Amino acid sequence: MLLPAYNGGHRLAWRVGEYLGAVRRGRFSRCAACGRWGPNLYRRWVIRPELERRSGVSPRAAEAWALKESGDCVHCGAKLRARRIAEVILRLYPVGDPPRPAPSIRRWVESAEARALLVAEVNEVEGLHRQLLRLPSFRPSEFRDDAPPGEVVDGVRCEHLERLTYESESFDLLITSETLEHVPDLSAALAEILRVLRPGGRHFFTAPILPGVSQTFPRAVLRGDGTIEHLAPPVSHPGGDWGYPVFTELGEDFPAILRLAGFEVETAFGPLREDDVCQVYCCRKPADGPRST
Ligand SMILES: [Zn+2]
Repeated sequence: MLLPAYNGGHRLAWRVGEYLGAVRRGRFSRCAACGRWGPNLYRRWVIRPELERRSGVSPRAAEAWALKESGDCVHCGAKLRARRIAEVILRLYPVGDPPRPAPSIRRWVESAEARALLVAEVNEVEGLHRQLLRLPSFRPSEFRDDAPPGEVVDGVRCEHLERLTYESESFDLLITSETLEHVPDLSAALAEILRVLRPGGRHFFTAPILPGVSQTFPRAVLRGDGTIEHLAPPVSHPGGDWGYPVFTELGEDFPAILRLAGFEVETAFGPLREDDVCQVYCCRKPADGPRST
């Protein structure tokens, strides 16, 4: 009897502490995903010391990384990175006459303009996902290593970015968040994203590009037998030494790599800084087809 009460009290105290932290830091905003006003809960512990050490980030950049991976909207749970992707969607897909940004994704999905778009999401972006589910043309999917791409398991379609099962030129918008670093063959994934986008279609994503990593490099390769060969000290997310392995450490040159892959690239909330690592990368498939490079 006493233990549940103790645990409940402990969780409440923890939550109150997060609220007070948000108030103290003045972190209040209107959530671009759900449209509601409230504090954004900062949790420094989400970037664990082991992840910080293995990734080689400065204490200041680790704080910024923690803000990106928390800063939750108290209403819908959208982290800062989800809320920023939402802001970019609202900005680049205005609605109404004259066209202007909708106040939130919750309102945006009700517009005729949004409902005419074909939108894909590869791996759930918490907070944003729940709002986008109201779009009739929304195609969410999850990566699973125990199911082939295209199969539906427990009502959820499975997809692998290296070999998407969608038709070419299917989507106006494809969303990923903190996913690209975990794909074993990143160039295959970029080629696939380009393939399934319509001309002029966009891929919005966030990824852990961190200050101090100037050049993108492979940390690991997936061998044919399914085992992982480490080319550099292993890093996993979210724990550092546990979680999903990082195959590619993305560097500050990553936008240039995206351009070489055929995208037009813009960075929102940029540039990357030690005190703000939460950029949204907007990659557009050229309307007249991929560039020849
Ligand atoms: Zn929200």
